[in-house]
Amino acid sequence: YQRIVLASRPQGDVTPDNFRLETVEIPAITDGQVLVRNHYLSLDPYMRGRMSDAKSYAAPQPLNETMIGGTVGEVIASNNPKFAVGDFVVGMFGWSEIGVSDGALLRKVDGKVIPPSAYLGAVGMPGMTAWYGFNHILKAKPGETVVVSSASGAVGSVVGQLAKLKGCRAVGIAGGGEKCDYVVNTLGFDACVDYKAGNLEGDLAAATPDGVDAIFENVGGAVFDAALARTNAFARVALCGMIAGYNGEDIPLRNARLLLTNRITVQGFIVTEHLDLWPQGLSELGGLVATGKLQFRESVADGLAQAPDAFIGLLKGKNFGKQLVKMI
Ligand code: NDP
Repeated sequence: YQRIVLASRPQGDVTPDNFRLETVEIPAITDGQVLVRNHYLSLDPYMRGRMSDAKSYAAPQPLNETMIGGTVGEVIASNNPKFAVGDFVVGMFGWSEIGVSDGALLRKVDGKVIPPSAYLGAVGMPGMTAWYGFNHILKAKPGETVVVSSASGAVGSVVGQLAKLKGCRAVGIAGGGEKCDYVVNTLGFDACVDYKAGNLEGDLAAATPDGVDAIFENVGGAVFDAALARTNAFARVALCGMIAGYNGEDIPLRNARLLLTNRITVQGFIVTEHLDLWPQGLSELGGLVATGKLQFRESVADGLAQAPDAFIGLLKGKNFGKQLVKMI
């Protein structure tokens, strides 16, 4: 089977030669183990952080080992009474067509009501990120205005829809007219500002006539500054991501004084540090997807060999919705 390992650490932009595709033998499973054929690999911005050896909240991805990553796949052999051949499981098997596990960290999912790939997106880690940041940090009330950056993406798309369900005004920021059309017309946000159109501050001001009470920040830099410029007193910021700086760029903050004058609360968070809340969050998100109240969109690369290019594209905004790699 095929897998992709980290061949070298990027200096600035990620390049294809940071990865190496390898062919390896399928191992025999021992007592208690299951063998999984992965159907989808999730590509996520956090992987850029793991490729570096700079100090962070998680240890770096080791060189020459399978790249870290979430997967969903089907059990094809089992020596574990908890799993049967044909079961769909979510795991962390990485950039690999095959996974072997003792079952401890595998989550069995129903692949019929909700498509298996959704367990890597709206009903998986990105959905949980949106759910946690929205419900436990922003705590937005009906009528408040919530601004979400990277609004068409895996996390942002869920944040805005949760905000609408709560009765808030949801305003997205995204790159390009097509993404903004989707955010408003399909996801149901009240407005979306295209930060690439050249009038970010003015357009965001027009979209937030009552100011901004809550910011779900995925980007940093000029996008964050524009949202801060619109804050009302006692606004909250869920600091989820700063993708504008994932290649090591400085992320200046021009409107820092507003943190003081508007008495703003900023809370960074890492969703995997709140595993106790995942069962509740995933069950709520699963219910919303199953009943059509939560829409999502996917960008699917075909075949593991395409994963490096798809990942490089994700860091440049080429994805439109949750970025996946289909491996079967
Ligand atoms: P997305 O599906 O939103 O894809 C990434 C998007 O980021 C791109 O499509 C692009 O959208 C935007 N982008 C990329 N580069 C830049 C740039 N230089 N400046 C501005 N925008 C850029 O990814 P996710 O939904 O998976 O992740 C969204 C954010 O959430 C990321 O910052 C990620 O790190 C963070 N995150 C944090 C977690 C946590 O626990 N704190 C957990 C999961 C995700 P566009 O075309 O609109 O610019």
